Amino acid sequence: MNAVGTGAPLAERARAAIPGGVNSGQRSVPGITDLVVARAEGARFFDTEGRAYTDYHAAFGPQLLGHNDPDVSAAVAAVIREVDLCGVGVTPGEIELAERLIELVPSFEQVLLTSTGSEATFHALRLSRAVTGRRLVVKFQGCYHGWHDAVSLNVISAEDALNRPDPISAGILPEVLESTVVLPFNDAEAVRRLFADHGDQIAGVIVEPVPHNIGCVLPTDEFLITLREQTTQHGAILIFDEVITGFRHALGGWQEISGITPDLTTLGKAFANGFPLGAIGGRADLMQQFSSRPGGSAFFAGTYNGAPVVVAAALATLTKLTEQPVHEHTFRLGELARAGLREVFAELDLPAVVTGYGSIFVSYFMPGPAPRTYSDLLANRADLFVGYRRKLIERGIFELPLNLKRSHISYAHTESDIEQLIDGTRDAVRAALS
Ligand code: PLP
Repeated sequence: MNAVGTGAPLAERARAAIPGGVNSGQRSVPGITDLVVARAEGARFFDTEGRAYTDYHAAFGPQLLGHNDPDVSAAVAAVIREVDLCGVGVTPGEIELAERLIELVPSFEQVLLTSTGSEATFHALRLSRAVTGRRLVVKFQGCYHGWHDAVSLNVISAEDALNRPDPISAGILPEVLESTVVLPFNDAEAVRRLFADHGDQIAGVIVEPVPHNIGCVLPTDEFLITLREQTTQHGAILIFDEVITGFRHALGGWQEISGITPDLTTLGKAFANGFPLGAIGGRADLMQQFSSRPGGSAFFAGTYNGAPVVVAAALATLTKLTEQPVHEHTFRLGELARAGLREVFAELDLPAVVTGYGSIFVSYFMPGPAPRTYSDLLANRADLFVGYRRKLIERGIFELPLNLKRSHISYAHTESDIEQLIDGTRDAVRAALS
């Protein structure tokens, strides 16, 4: 029995009926617990009170084209008149999507669809254990790969500074956590040492090639090359988790930009522009191990995998990303935003590092140079990082007020949005400092 009646404010009803009032631990953000979203379009979303927010959060990254993109919505509306979900065989859209992904992503020889990024990274790790017969997996500080047990430690590592326990969740078997080794990002020497000592026990290495879950830390060439060399030399599987970098930074992801080809790649977020879709792809000899019954050595399933609505959204998104200057536009606005924000912080005489890549930007409140590891980010002033974003929200500009979170520009943002962002940031930082 729910004590809160239907006449109560929506946020109150949410808290009564939904643990924490939101449907993801990642949405549990202090200070914005009363936000009830009614509508979203282009660069903005609107709450139930009619307030508009220029959105740089983009639901943690999917909306590269902007909210409710008309071409994506039209493709979805068309497909739901034809087919919903049959759960048997395959649809033409799934075949077309697989073929297009294989054309675009350098490491893809075969690909499978999931509904989320977490499922994709889960299956990548399972497959790496299945094909190697080994136990250990390696991840890096500050990288986030979803909610499942093997990767649920040292996720948002700056929380260490706030003394939050690591692992991030109760209920995980100690032997699962002990089977994941966490190394510092960009530390090639640590990778070489680990492989020298335990190379024959390592099944796979999973990495966000750019750890955007702590804002933006760019990888050194040496680091990615070392990952490729060591995994090859020791027979371990290299997994690039391109759930954020895939499509947002380049059609072929960071592997296209860096020229380093992993064995497996996981995708999500931007390639269906807000519809729930993930993918795992890579070397055919590895992916074949998933080929279910009979003879498959790793089990892969999911009722909603390849659902026609989501596949239609992805095909429409990929068409727009390939045929329109989405990257040119968002990268140009990204440069404008970063340059403008740097000027603002210089004007205010505030030590800050404004960084990012392409359509992603983030301002850390610490002296330079740009961070190379998670521990560099412990110098960031979390109070100011969160505080100015709360003030920005009061001004109708939404950057997520959580420490180290990155912000995203979409194809729907305009130069005048960026001007509003820069002016709004100047005011918001002043207000947060006063
Ligand atoms: N991998 C990365 C790099 C992510 O950023 C995320 C989500 O933020 C995931 C995996 C998990 O994806 P999902 O939330 O769709 O399960």
